[in-house]
Amino acid sequence: MSGDMLDRYDLDNIAIGTLGSHSALNILKGAKEEGFRTVCICKEKDAIMYRKFGVADEMVLVQDFSELISEPVQERLRRLNAILIPHGSFTAFLSTEQLIHDLHVPVFGNRELLRWEADRKAQEEWLRKAGLRLPATFKTPEEIDRLTIAKLPGAKGGRGYFLAESPEVFHNKFSDMVRRGLLKEEDGDRIHLQEYVIGANIYPSYFSSIMKNDVELLAADRRYESSVDAIGRIPASEQLEFQVNPTYTVVGNFPVVIRESLLPELMRMGDSVHEMAKRLAPPGIIGPFCLETVITDDLRIYTFEISARIVAGTNVGIGTSPYAYLKYGENMYMGRRIALEIKEALRQGRLREALA
Ligand code: ADP
Repeated sequence: MSGDMLDRYDLDNIAIGTLGSHSALNILKGAKEEGFRTVCICKEKDAIMYRKFGVADEMVLVQDFSELISEPVQERLRRLNAILIPHGSFTAFLSTEQLIHDLHVPVFGNRELLRWEADRKAQEEWLRKAGLRLPATFKTPEEIDRLTIAKLPGAKGGRGYFLAESPEVFHNKFSDMVRRGLLKEEDGDRIHLQEYVIGANIYPSYFSSIMKNDVELLAADRRYESSVDAIGRIPASEQLEFQVNPTYTVVGNFPVVIRESLLPELMRMGDSVHEMAKRLAPPGIIGPFCLETVITDDLRIYTFEISARIVAGTNVGIGTSPYAYLKYGENMYMGRRIALEIKEALRQGRLREALA
């Protein structure tokens, strides 16, 4: 559908645009390095950052990101010949239906996969069918029989998540979170209960290339989360005294180099997730995606989520990362890899295929 929107575009003068947040520096810098003009749809208060880093040739100022679907903003983007690169803020500020039906500007990637990503059950089905190992899930709090993480739907940065190992603990903690204003009473019905796997968190990021017909492992990171990453700095006796409930608000990311013997399996996982996506939502994943995994001490890899778009964790690779270096040499990273794909698609006259 995105492809038809190209009819009125000047293909010799394509710009790459995105919403000013999340991984916009990464995307816009990469686009500039591949020779594209760039457009940042941005809030006034954040414009300083994109100006000072000099990554945006054009700024479209908005009060709120939901204005992306307003006709004047869309018309301006079309006049700029802009192709949009979606990231986490697109799905956080606009509904899947708005992104699929109301956004008449070409978007890099497969919009149909947004449906699979947005729905936890569909996402689980996709990952299971791809042969990945997933944590167990529980339908009701009464089924909880092991350490479990309680999650609210939507990309909330882990805010309001908590752990419980029994139905009683679940109900106590839920009430506590409501009292502290972190959750609302009505959130109870929407909570997703998933086995909490003890292990190391690794987020491998891949790029699925339509032009090369290949899935590339380009980066890996782990998150720096408040307050869970701070709890270990408080003596255990005080943790008990203050009854700290960990929360998982992401405040940053660390680059990770993965034990080499784990890479073959991670690569096979990336390939099979894309193969399954081809069947569920042809032509499968176009561009970046990330698997959110926990790796246990017996080196089992559990995948608890997929993001079928660029993740902010790839920002650790701006400039380069070991895996991007192994594949492309210096100065390759996710934002630039996207632009490279668009450039190659333009060269081969196949841009429509990258805008499913
Ligand atoms: P969101 O995607 O909403 O930001 P996540 O699902 O990534 O939140 O979870 C937040 C935190 O909880 C992360 O630190 C993640 O690693 C951890 N986590 C999520 N699910 C599990 C699980 N099943 N086992 C272990 N840790 C988990």
